[in-house]
Amino acid sequence: VSLPIHDVVLGRAAERGDTPALVDGTGEFTLTYGQVDAFHRRVAAGLAEAGVRKGDVLALHSPNTVLFPIAFYAATRAGAAVTTVHPLATPEEFAKQLRDSSARWIVTVSPLLPAARAAAELAGGITEIFVCDQAPEGPEGQGVRSLQSFLGSTGPVPEVEVDPDEDVAALPYSSGTTGVPKGVMLTHASIATNLAQLDPVIPMGPGDRILAILPFFHIYGLTALMNAPLRRGATVVVLPRFELDTFLGAIQRHRINGLYVAPPIVLALAKHPAVADYDLSSLEYIVSAAAPLDAALAEACSARLGLPPVLQAYGMTELSPGTHVVPLSAENPPPGTVGKLLPSTEMRILSLDDPAKDAAPGEEGEVAIRGPQVMKGYLGRPDATAAMIDADGWVHTGDIGRVDADGWLYVVDRVKELIKYKGFQVAPAELEALLLTHEGVADAAVIGVTDAEGTEIPKAFVVRQAAAPGLTAEDVMAHVAARVAPYKKVRSVEFVDTVPRAASGKILRRELRDRA
Ligand code: ATP
Ligand code: MG
Repeated sequence: VSLPIHDVVLGRAAERGDTPALVDGTGEFTLTYGQVDAFHRRVAAGLAEAGVRKGDVLALHSPNTVLFPIAFYAATRAGAAVTTVHPLATPEEFAKQLRDSSARWIVTVSPLLPAARAAAELAGGITEIFVCDQAPEGPEGQGVRSLQSFLGSTGPVPEVEVDPDEDVAALPYSSGTTGVPKGVMLTHASIATNLAQLDPVIPMGPGDRILAILPFFHIYGLTALMNAPLRRGATVVVLPRFELDTFLGAIQRHRINGLYVAPPIVLALAKHPAVADYDLSSLEYIVSAAAPLDAALAEACSARLGLPPVLQAYGMTELSPGTHVVPLSAENPPPGTVGKLLPSTEMRILSLDDPAKDAAPGEEGEVAIRGPQVMKGYLGRPDATAAMIDADGWVHTGDIGRVDADGWLYVVDRVKELIKYKGFQVAPAELEALLLTHEGVADAAVIGVTDAEGTEIPKAFVVRQAAAPGLTAEDVMAHVAARVAPYKKVRSVEFVDTVPRAASGKILRRELRDRA
C-alpha cells in the first residue's frame, strides 16, 4: 500500500489511545497517541482554513518539542511539503531557505519569532507566520496565531488527494558540510519505504522508550526519532538541545532503552566523567550514525556502559536517509562496520581511479546506491541532481567505503575530505579517531592545509581534556606518529576550545579550513 506519510506514521495512533507518544524530557507534559491523532487533524483543519493548499511549502522552524510532530503531520495532511529549518539559522540563512524552497508559510516558536519575522521580511512571499509553543507564555500580544488555537477549529479535516510517489512530503536541506545546503525532495513514498526497510533491523515497538536528543529538523532525527518510533507505538522523550547533564538525567529518569546518537555523544559517553554520576542501566542499545565512528571509541563506550556493541547506521539526506544498518540482532558485528545493505537496495563500490568501473572486491571505492529511497531530486537544481544521480539511477554518495566478504560495509571518509600528502591519501577520520585515543585529548578534528613548500599536510585541531592542561603539540604528534605509517603523520597542531560541528554532529571541516 502506498499511503501519505501522516497515515503511514499515525495509521494506528487512534487505537493506541492512552499510550504515551511524546513526553517532554525537561518537564511533565505528555501527549498520548490518541491526542497526537486528534490534535494533528484539528491543526490540519486550521491550516486548511488559513489557506494552506496542496503543493504549498511550509517552513517548520523549531527546536525539538512534543508539538513538532503535530505541526509536521498537520502540514502534510493539509497537503503541504515541510521544509525543516535549523532553529539557530540566522535571518539571512533562513531567508535563503525560504526563497529557495518558495515557502509560503512559517511555523515557529515564540522565542524564535523575531528571527522568523526578519527572515520572512528578507525573503518575501510568506503569507502567514504561526507559532507552535509548548511553553505556557504563548504568543499573546505578538500579533500571530498559534497552532494551539486551531485545536478549537470546527472546520473539516482536509481530504487532500496525495500521490505518494510524486508528491513531496519533506524538503530537508542537506547539512551543508561540503557546500551549500541543497533542498532535498523526499516524496511520501520514499520516506515511507525507508521506514519499512528499517523495520526488520531496528525492531522498535510499544514499551520502547526512545530519547529524541538529535534534532527532528535533520533527516536522521526525523526518521529515527520521530517517524519510526511513532509509527511503531514507542514512546519518544523529547529534549530541545544537547546538554550532557540534562541528557544523562533524562535517560535515568525516563528509563530510556534505545539511544540514537551521533559520534560526539558516543565520545561523551565513553570519556566524560559525569557519566558515572547517573544510573544508565535502562539502556539496551545505542545506534550511531551521521559521521564516522571509530571502532575503539565505540568499544570504549559499550564497555563502560556494559552494553552490546554500539551499532552503526549509514545514510544521507538524499536517501531518505538509510541504506545500511547493523541489525540489533547481529551477534558479533565486526568492529567499525556501518552495517549491511537494507532490503530492496543495491550498492556498488566504484573504482576511485575510474568511476565507470567497480573497485576490486574488498577494495576501497566510492559508495553508489540505488533503491526506492532515493530522493526525487534537489529542488530547482537539475545540474546538481544530475551530478548526484546518474542516468541509471545510481546515487554517487561521495563517500569512500569497502565491503568485506560477508557484506559488511565500512565507510572510510568522504572523497572530498581526503588529504593528499605527496601522492598518498590520508583520511582525516582515521587520524581523528587516533587522536581521541590519547587520554589528554577531549576532542579533535583534522584537515589538510598547505605548508610553506606547497605540500598538503594533515593538521589537527585539538581540544585538551580539562585534566591535561599541559598537553603539547609534540605529545599529540608523537602519539599519532607511533601508530601510523609515516605519510599519515599529523604535521601541525593547533589547540582550540571546541571543534565546530553541525547539528547532526558532523565536524565542520569547512569552517576549520576557512580559519586555517
Ligand atoms: P552536504 O551534502 O550538504 O555537504 P552532508 O553530506 O553532511 O551535507 P547529510 O545528508 O546530513 O549532509 O549527511 C550525509 C553524510 O553523512 C554521508 O554522505 C556520510 O559522509 C556521512 N555519514 C552518515 N552516516 C555515516 C556513518 N555511519 N559513518 C560515516 N559517515 C557517515
Ligand atoms: Mg551530502
